[in-house]
Amino acid sequence: MIDIIQIEDFYIIYMDTIVAVIRNHISSGDDSRIFRHAGDIIKDGGLVAFPTETVYGLGGDALNPESSKKIYAAKGRPSDNPLIVHIADWTSIKKICVDIPDEAKQLADAFWPGPLTMILKKSSAVPYETTGGLDTVAVRLPDHPVAISLIKAAGGYIAAPSANLSGRPSPTTAAHVIEDMDGRIDMILDDGDVGIGLESTIVDLTERVPVILRPGYVTQEMLNRVLGRVDVDITLMDQGSGQAPKAPGMKYRHYAPKGSMRLIEGDQEAVIRTMNAEVKKARLRGERTGVMITDEIWERVSADVKKSVGNRENEYEIARRLYRILREFDEEGVTAIFSESFSSDGFGQAVMNRLLKAAGYTVEKV
Ligand code: AMP
Ligand code: MG
Repeated sequence: MIDIIQIEDFYIIYMDTIVAVIRNHISSGDDSRIFRHAGDIIKDGGLVAFPTETVYGLGGDALNPESSKKIYAAKGRPSDNPLIVHIADWTSIKKICVDIPDEAKQLADAFWPGPLTMILKKSSAVPYETTGGLDTVAVRLPDHPVAISLIKAAGGYIAAPSANLSGRPSPTTAAHVIEDMDGRIDMILDDGDVGIGLESTIVDLTERVPVILRPGYVTQEMLNRVLGRVDVDITLMDQGSGQAPKAPGMKYRHYAPKGSMRLIEGDQEAVIRTMNAEVKKARLRGERTGVMITDEIWERVSADVKKSVGNRENEYEIARRLYRILREFDEEGVTAIFSESFSSDGFGQAVMNRLLKAAGYTVEKV
């Protein structure tokens, strides 16, 4: 790791980690210096967390096996859980992938830069440390100027999982990254809140029919419009299938708050009644209770801690707030969480996939 050159007004140091403050993609200092510094850290084998349009990523040199090992260590992540390689332009894909199908270019034209990750066959340039031992590699071109500037400054290939400790909700602000990663990584580029709040859609293009391994902002309908037919990994919304998910990372308990969490699903009146009854029972057991609910039922549910996910119809707002709220429940010492359940249509499928994982698939149908 290189030494810090100089501390300017846009650099803050916490324990060991430098935070460069950028707001709305502009810093109060000289951006080119920040990116050169951050890029040099990555080229020298260090780690830099950075914003993307989905969540904050924890970046290292994707072509350096030692960097990937450091990423796993910093996150406490199992090493069979592969990393996504972030690139800054389409042509970069040619160095890291082989046998690239036409579908990849079609999807790139339609959705890149953007929240879509493609699984393709890897070239020998990508070390197995980055792909968790697989012969395939996950690739994404993010839609965020800070991410793009960093990738370019770092030599073009950044391996980046979400910048949270393994098992914690993904970070949607730099403050979340500091909470989990201070002292474990070299630098954080702070650009405030992210736009989407949930991780990218992952689509596997190495199968005969492309398969969605993780739902996200780019929905099955959107992918179908471009490719004609795209399947969904059946394990995503249901643990009852008995099969292992195809994306190694999807098998781990992810996105989870520290307290126990249960979803309550059904007719609005029944949900209100059940939630209030469950809160009462939990309080009698000595639990500190929390509810995650929509504005529509806000006035009619009580608990020690109440969190609004916004309007029921607006799954984009629900997605943006979800991980922040899960972290807030932890901070406020909530031990029993009850959440409403939402529609699984379109982008709602991604929201419900993350919520189900956070709740360990415990759903009470009322
Ligand atoms: P994260 O970077 O934390 O959003 O996690 C990356 C996700 O991508 C994990 O769920 C991984 O299992 C998945 N992934 C990355 N590379 C591959 C691959 N080659 N094949 C299947 N899934 C992958
Ligand atoms: Mg993650």
